[in-house]
Amino acid sequence: MTDGIPRPKVALIAIGDELLNGQQLDTNSAWLSERLWALGWEVVNITLLGDHEDQIVEALAVQGRKMDLVLTTGGLGPTLDDLTRHAVARAMGVELVLDQAVVDWLTRLFESFGRTMNESNKRQALFPAGAAVLQNNFGTAPGFRIQHPGGAWMASFPGPPRELHAMFETELVPFLRATFPAVPEPRMASFHLFGVSESDFAAEVGPWMERAAMPRMGVCASGRVLKVRIEDSGPAGHESMRVFEARVAEFETRFAPAIFSRQDPSTALALGQLLMKESVTFACAESCTGGEIASRLVAQAGISDVFLEGFVTYSNNAKRDRLGVPQELLDAHGAVSGPVVEAMALGAAKACGARLAVSTSGVAGPGGGSEEKPVGLVYIGVAIDGYVQSHELRFPDRGRDLIRDWAATSACELARRALVARLAGPGTQKNP
Ligand code: AMP
Ligand code: MG
Repeated sequence: MTDGIPRPKVALIAIGDELLNGQQLDTNSAWLSERLWALGWEVVNITLLGDHEDQIVEALAVQGRKMDLVLTTGGLGPTLDDLTRHAVARAMGVELVLDQAVVDWLTRLFESFGRTMNESNKRQALFPAGAAVLQNNFGTAPGFRIQHPGGAWMASFPGPPRELHAMFETELVPFLRATFPAVPEPRMASFHLFGVSESDFAAEVGPWMERAAMPRMGVCASGRVLKVRIEDSGPAGHESMRVFEARVAEFETRFAPAIFSRQDPSTALALGQLLMKESVTFACAESCTGGEIASRLVAQAGISDVFLEGFVTYSNNAKRDRLGVPQELLDAHGAVSGPVVEAMALGAAKACGARLAVSTSGVAGPGGGSEEKPVGLVYIGVAIDGYVQSHELRFPDRGRDLIRDWAATSACELARRALVARLAGPGTQKNP
């Protein structure tokens, strides 16, 4: 089944040598894609081109035949390598004409900075004949829009993101809404899941992820977290709306244990939000994560209400002296063990009077692994209201940085789940 609702199509062309030699990431196209998606447009392709007039002309001609809209960014500056306006004029088969009103505006703008306008800036007042000027309140390069003889619209924006963002919102969005009034604004639901592999997820959702499925589902895996998007572009009140809502509800039920948040993309954010909402005090005792959990938590405004203390107890002595981990436990089980992380979590909670505490101890590598305790083995302890539990995690050896990242992500989520269970009822926890 396809959605059957045509969404207007748009191609993006990002222009600039700096985009092709690795100096500058093309963030403009990512930003435009997100905004256009939210407006109901379908971004069909993104092209990156250097400051090369012939190639820009060719790309404009090709995309102009296929799309409803072609947007370019970059290449509108005053220097000779800024060629977008020349390329658009050629692709349209029209002349460039000087817009005296823009020359006057530029002259006044430079005067207001106490400078005289350079002759080169006059280039920025040249527009393909028939184009409408898009005003730029944050720079010296106005943009423009023009209709291709074949019907497609084209609009060109300067490269600096701040200028593009403002001009897109004020100069293009109202025009798009007026010119394409029937475009339905799509609906989107997002979920963040922890503890489900991409392949298990694929098996579980089955045909929901088929390319032609309606609503469309997309998944993106990053650092033990799956980010799932369910998208529907049908018009409001249409049958597809009902199908979308039913799918979202069923997804939520089916994956309830794994979903840690709808909005927050990180487990630390989700934990921090819950701690603040429930006013639950928190501490952490970190060995292999070395402060990463604390660092992720304090990135959130307002966390000082609940985050009491973070210990980085790297040596055995620190675990013993700062957290009160019994020497006998360290001797009997080693620092990387369930009993030790349990004692660490209890010790951290007790040391500062926190209700909830999480601890980590693991082998991050590349050295230090053994057959019994290989690189990637991580223990996480969670103590809540005096109850404690440990988890053994075995990550693949993908390097120290990833293992530490995964350990911190997992620790936050295991702490959050323990808190959720505790809040649901004290009877659900096992005794200390
Ligand atoms: P231009 O309009 O070509 O003079 O672009 C000026 C500046 O905008 C460049 O030096 C970049 O710093 C920035 N820029 C250009 N294109 C992009 C892009 N696609 N994404 C992010 N920044 C860009
Ligand atoms: Mg440029």
